[in-house]
Amino acid sequence: MIGERIQQARLASGLSLRALAEKADITAMAISKYENNQSTPSSKVLLAMAQALGVRTEYFFRRKEICLTDINHREHELLPEKEERKVLADVKEQLERWLILEDVLPSPWGKPFHLPMNLPSQIEGYEEIEGVAIAMRQYWQLGLGPIPDLIDTLESRGIKVLITRYDGHEKFNGLSARMGDAPVVVVGQSWTGDRQRFTLAHELGHLVLHGRLSEGLDEEKACHRFAGAFLVPQPKVLECLGEKRSWLEPQELHLLKHEWGLSMMAWSFRAKDLGIINQQANRQIWTGYMQAWKEAKLEPGDEYKAEQPRLFQQSVYRALAEDLISESKAAELLGASLAEFHVTRKMEPPHVAGQ
Ligand SMILES: [Zn+2]
Repeated sequence: MIGERIQQARLASGLSLRALAEKADITAMAISKYENNQSTPSSKVLLAMAQALGVRTEYFFRRKEICLTDINHREHELLPEKEERKVLADVKEQLERWLILEDVLPSPWGKPFHLPMNLPSQIEGYEEIEGVAIAMRQYWQLGLGPIPDLIDTLESRGIKVLITRYDGHEKFNGLSARMGDAPVVVVGQSWTGDRQRFTLAHELGHLVLHGRLSEGLDEEKACHRFAGAFLVPQPKVLECLGEKRSWLEPQELHLLKHEWGLSMMAWSFRAKDLGIINQQANRQIWTGYMQAWKEAKLEPGDEYKAEQPRLFQQSVYRALAEDLISESKAAELLGASLAEFHVTRKMEPPHVAGQ
């Protein structure tokens, strides 16, 4: 029904009824009626709404039903309902475009997500997670070194990684779900790279650890441990920091953060978890040089740059090159007008266009 589609597009764009009414020059009352399928917009009105919402009119007629299951938040950090609806509408909109594309792609293009067979069925203590993280790295042939592009690593192994614009709310800490068999992980657009990577690794932790933890273990805590252990495996932490330390210098952690894409704070926790520094030193790092930055949700020194998913765009161009989709379909999937898409597609040097 077109009403639901209009509402989903409106929620995904973050506009209120009134804001959309103003932008598209129609009344809020009329939009509300369209959304409730009490009346049908004319093609002129549809075009005005499409433009205001930044979608193409085709969007309103798509029939793909996205079914998300196992939606998982950090328990005590639930988003207010209104914010959550925005995030979910945005996620669904992005997944719809994925589904449309996947319909035309030959199956060997995408790899399904699998877990290794050799994982323990029951994990008794947090320390065991160190080995699980290494098993996961081995299964994916990642070695033990830094993972330069975590989003690419996850995407190429069957996990859908989405970036949402609606991360303004401080409680949005990432979200994971399933669409059919495919795991979906959502992170915020404005986050720093180290925060984004930690969340991605944490969500991978849920996929790996869920159902394997013995009763006394807390899944959130276990996934935090997994995230750190996956991003910097135990032998590498020992190699970088040594086996016993009394203190960790801020510049030391800053350099390691940029080498490994793990935040300074997480490094300090890693050192504590592995018994390199004691609890008190870890606390002093928190309340010491990290404290002044904590309020701004930043860390000392340079920011670690956020990563971008590329698989979707790449697949659109690949499908276009192989004549599996038309140029106008490609433009629609990438959310661009045909004219914009022409320019992007051609990749001409800057002067040619003006000559
Ligand atoms: Zn979690």
